[in-house]
Amino acid sequence: MSRNKLTGDSLSACLPAGCSPMVVPWFNQHHVMLWITRTRRSKLGDFRSGSPSRPPVISVNHSLNPYSFLITLLHEMAHAEVFLKYKRHVQPHGVQWKDAYRRLSLPFLAHGILPDDIRGAFGNYLINPAASSTSDVNLAAVLRRYDPPRDVTLISELPEAAVFALPDGRVFRKGDKLRKRYKCECLNNKRIYLFSPLAEIIPFNPEQSGTIV
Ligand SMILES: [Zn+2]
Repeated sequence: MSRNKLTGDSLSACLPAGCSPMVVPWFNQHHVMLWITRTRRSKLGDFRSGSPSRPPVISVNHSLNPYSFLITLLHEMAHAEVFLKYKRHVQPHGVQWKDAYRRLSLPFLAHGILPDDIRGAFGNYLINPAASSTSDVNLAAVLRRYDPPRDVTLISELPEAAVFALPDGRVFRKGDKLRKRYKCECLNNKRIYLFSPLAEIIPFNPEQSGTIV
Protein backbone atom coordinates (compact mmCIF):
# COMPACT_ATOMS: atom_id res chain seq x y z
CA MET A 1 0.00 0.00 0.00
CA SER A 2 1.23 3.48 -0.81
CA ARG A 3 2.99 5.58 1.81
CA ASN A 4 0.67 8.44 0.95
CA LYS A 5 -3.07 8.75 1.33
CA LEU A 6 -5.10 5.61 1.93
CA THR A 7 -7.68 5.47 -0.84
CA GLY A 8 -9.61 2.44 0.31
CA ASP A 9 -9.51 0.48 -2.98
CA SER A 10 -7.61 -2.47 -1.53
CA LEU A 11 -9.32 -2.05 1.82
CA SER A 12 -12.87 -2.33 0.52
CA ALA A 13 -12.18 -5.89 -0.66
CA CYS A 14 -11.18 -6.86 2.91
CA LEU A 15 -14.03 -5.20 4.82
CA PRO A 16 -17.80 -5.78 4.96
CA ALA A 17 -19.65 -3.87 2.24
CA GLY A 18 -19.91 -0.16 2.96
CA CYS A 19 -17.34 -0.10 5.78
CA SER A 20 -14.29 1.12 3.90
CA PRO A 21 -15.49 4.77 3.61
CA MET A 22 -16.10 4.68 7.39
CA VAL A 23 -12.41 4.01 8.20
CA VAL A 24 -10.39 5.61 5.38
CA PRO A 25 -10.80 9.20 6.71
CA TRP A 26 -9.46 8.08 10.10
CA PHE A 27 -6.21 6.87 8.52
CA ASN A 28 -5.71 10.07 6.59
CA GLN A 29 -6.57 12.23 9.60
CA HIS A 30 -4.21 10.39 11.98
CA HIS A 31 -1.39 9.86 9.45
CA VAL A 32 -1.27 6.15 10.23
CA MET A 33 -0.34 3.69 7.50
CA LEU A 34 -2.18 0.43 6.87
CA TRP A 35 -0.47 -2.71 5.69
CA ILE A 36 -2.58 -5.65 4.62
CA THR A 37 -0.22 -8.55 5.20
CA ARG A 38 0.18 -12.23 4.50
CA THR A 39 -1.28 -14.59 7.09
CA ARG A 40 0.65 -14.76 10.34
CA ARG A 41 -0.36 -17.61 12.61
CA SER A 42 0.85 -15.80 15.72
CA LYS A 43 -1.37 -12.72 15.35
CA LEU A 44 -4.29 -11.30 13.41
CA GLY A 45 -2.94 -7.76 13.33
CA ASP A 46 -0.64 -5.34 15.12
CA PHE A 47 0.25 -1.72 15.67
CA ARG A 48 3.79 -0.36 15.46
CA SER A 49 4.36 3.15 16.71
CA GLY A 50 6.92 4.19 14.10
CA SER A 51 9.80 6.60 14.65
CA PRO A 52 10.53 10.27 13.89
CA SER A 53 11.20 9.26 10.29
CA ARG A 54 8.52 6.58 9.89
CA PRO A 55 4.77 6.93 10.47
CA PRO A 56 2.92 4.54 12.76
CA VAL A 57 1.72 1.38 10.99
CA ILE A 58 -1.27 -0.87 11.53
CA SER A 59 -1.09 -4.28 9.90
CA VAL A 60 -3.92 -6.80 9.50
CA ASN A 61 -3.75 -10.28 7.96
CA HIS A 62 -5.35 -10.31 4.52
CA SER A 63 -6.92 -13.76 4.95
CA LEU A 64 -9.37 -12.84 7.73
CA ASN A 65 -13.05 -12.89 6.86
CA PRO A 66 -14.46 -9.34 6.45
CA TYR A 67 -15.94 -9.18 9.96
CA SER A 68 -12.78 -10.50 11.67
CA PHE A 69 -10.81 -8.03 9.55
CA LEU A 70 -12.98 -5.12 10.73
CA ILE A 71 -12.88 -6.16 14.40
CA THR A 72 -9.08 -6.58 14.25
CA LEU A 73 -8.65 -3.28 12.40
CA LEU A 74 -10.69 -1.39 15.02
CA HIS A 75 -8.65 -3.06 17.81
CA GLU A 76 -5.43 -1.74 16.21
CA MET A 77 -6.91 1.70 15.46
CA ALA A 78 -7.70 1.97 19.18
CA HIS A 79 -4.03 1.14 19.96
CA ALA A 80 -2.94 3.86 17.53
CA GLU A 81 -5.23 6.49 19.11
CA VAL A 82 -4.04 5.61 22.61
CA PHE A 83 -0.40 5.75 21.53
CA LEU A 84 -0.83 9.10 19.76
CA LYS A 85 -2.44 10.58 22.87
CA TYR A 86 -0.58 8.92 25.77
CA LYS A 87 2.55 7.44 24.16
CA ARG A 88 3.54 4.51 26.35
CA HIS A 89 2.27 5.89 29.66
CA VAL A 90 -0.82 3.65 29.86
CA GLN A 91 -1.48 -0.09 29.75
CA PRO A 92 -1.72 -1.50 26.20
CA HIS A 93 -5.20 -2.97 26.79
CA GLY A 94 -6.18 -0.68 29.65
CA VAL A 95 -9.19 1.55 30.17
CA GLN A 96 -8.10 4.14 27.58
CA TRP A 97 -7.78 1.44 24.91
CA LYS A 98 -11.16 -0.09 25.84
CA ASP A 99 -12.80 3.37 25.62
CA ALA A 100 -11.19 4.09 22.25
CA TYR A 101 -12.15 0.65 20.90
CA ARG A 102 -15.79 1.16 21.93
CA ARG A 103 -15.95 4.68 20.50
CA LEU A 104 -14.41 3.66 17.16
CA SER A 105 -16.69 0.60 16.93
CA LEU A 106 -19.95 2.32 17.80
CA PRO A 107 -20.80 3.51 14.25
CA PHE A 108 -20.48 -0.09 13.01
CA LEU A 109 -23.06 -1.31 15.55
CA ALA A 110 -25.80 0.80 13.92
CA HIS A 111 -28.54 -1.28 12.30
CA GLY A 112 -27.92 -2.58 8.82
CA ILE A 113 -24.12 -2.55 8.72
CA LEU A 114 -23.22 -5.93 10.24
CA PRO A 115 -25.30 -9.15 10.26
CA ASP A 116 -27.37 -9.46 13.45
CA ASP A 117 -25.30 -12.35 14.88
CA ILE A 118 -22.01 -10.44 14.46
CA ARG A 119 -23.55 -7.23 15.73
CA GLY A 120 -24.86 -8.95 18.89
CA ALA A 121 -21.63 -10.83 19.68
CA PHE A 122 -19.40 -7.82 18.92
CA GLY A 123 -21.62 -5.53 21.01
CA ASN A 124 -21.40 -7.93 23.99
CA TYR A 125 -17.64 -8.30 23.58
CA LEU A 126 -17.22 -4.50 23.61
CA ILE A 127 -18.76 -4.21 27.09
CA ASN A 128 -15.32 -5.23 28.39
CA PRO A 129 -13.08 -6.07 25.44
CA ALA A 130 -10.19 -8.44 26.09
CA ALA A 131 -6.75 -8.24 24.55
CA SER A 132 -7.63 -10.98 22.08
CA SER A 133 -10.98 -11.18 20.29
CA THR A 134 -10.37 -14.92 19.86
CA SER A 135 -10.48 -15.40 23.66
CA ASP A 136 -14.20 -14.45 23.61
CA VAL A 137 -15.63 -17.86 22.74
CA ASN A 138 -19.02 -16.51 21.68
CA LEU A 139 -17.58 -13.84 19.37
CA ALA A 140 -15.01 -16.28 17.96
CA ALA A 141 -17.72 -18.88 17.25
CA VAL A 142 -19.94 -16.33 15.48
CA LEU A 143 -17.02 -14.98 13.43
CA ARG A 144 -16.11 -18.51 12.44
CA ARG A 145 -19.45 -18.92 10.64
CA TYR A 146 -18.15 -16.49 8.04
CA ASP A 147 -14.83 -18.23 7.44
CA PRO A 148 -14.56 -20.07 4.14
CA PRO A 149 -15.44 -23.75 4.71
CA ARG A 150 -12.47 -25.83 5.84
CA ASP A 151 -12.26 -29.49 6.57
CA VAL A 152 -11.60 -29.23 10.29
CA THR A 153 -13.12 -30.82 13.38
CA LEU A 154 -13.61 -28.90 16.60
CA ILE A 155 -13.14 -30.64 19.92
CA SER A 156 -16.71 -29.62 20.85
CA GLU A 157 -18.02 -31.77 17.98
CA LEU A 158 -16.58 -35.00 19.46
CA PRO A 159 -18.52 -37.24 21.88
CA GLU A 160 -17.23 -37.48 25.41
CA ALA A 161 -14.32 -39.93 25.88
CA ALA A 162 -13.50 -39.75 22.16
CA VAL A 163 -9.82 -40.04 21.33
CA PHE A 164 -8.24 -37.40 19.15
CA ALA A 165 -4.80 -36.22 18.04
CA LEU A 166 -3.03 -32.92 17.51
CA PRO A 167 -0.87 -32.16 14.47
CA ASP A 168 2.26 -32.77 16.60
CA GLY A 169 1.19 -36.41 17.03
CA ARG A 170 0.12 -36.34 20.68
CA VAL A 171 -3.07 -38.28 21.40
CA PHE A 172 -5.75 -37.26 23.92
CA ARG A 173 -9.01 -38.49 25.39
CA LYS A 174 -11.79 -35.91 25.67
CA GLY A 175 -13.12 -35.46 29.21
CA ASP A 176 -15.64 -33.28 31.06
CA LYS A 177 -16.23 -29.63 30.36
CA LEU A 178 -14.96 -27.44 33.21
CA ARG A 179 -16.72 -24.08 32.98
CA LYS A 180 -15.53 -23.05 29.50
CA ARG A 181 -12.90 -25.64 28.58
CA TYR A 182 -12.62 -29.37 28.10
CA LYS A 183 -10.39 -31.37 30.42
CA CYS A 184 -8.53 -33.91 28.30
CA GLU A 185 -5.98 -36.54 29.23
CA CYS A 186 -2.89 -36.80 27.09
CA LEU A 187 -2.44 -40.52 26.52
CA ASN A 188 1.27 -40.06 25.82
CA ASN A 189 2.20 -38.68 29.23
CA LYS A 190 -1.04 -39.14 31.29
CA ARG A 191 -1.20 -35.41 32.04
CA ILE A 192 -4.41 -33.34 31.93
CA TYR A 193 -4.71 -30.41 29.51
CA LEU A 194 -7.52 -27.87 29.04
CA PHE A 195 -8.83 -27.21 25.53
CA SER A 196 -10.97 -24.35 24.23
CA PRO A 197 -14.23 -25.66 22.66
CA LEU A 198 -12.96 -24.15 19.40
CA ALA A 199 -9.69 -26.13 19.38
CA GLU A 200 -9.18 -27.82 16.03
CA ILE A 201 -8.29 -31.48 16.42
CA ILE A 202 -7.79 -34.60 14.34
CA PRO A 203 -10.34 -37.33 15.16
CA PHE A 204 -8.43 -40.49 16.02
CA ASN A 205 -9.40 -43.64 14.20
CA PRO A 206 -7.47 -46.62 15.64
CA GLU A 207 -8.33 -48.81 12.62
CA GLN A 208 -6.58 -46.36 10.32
CA SER A 209 -3.76 -45.53 12.69
CA GLY A 210 -2.70 -49.02 13.76
CA THR A 211 -1.68 -48.76 17.37
CA ILE A 212 -3.28 -46.82 20.17
CA VAL A 213 -1.03 -45.34 22.81
ZN1 LIG B 1 -3.98 -5.31 21.25
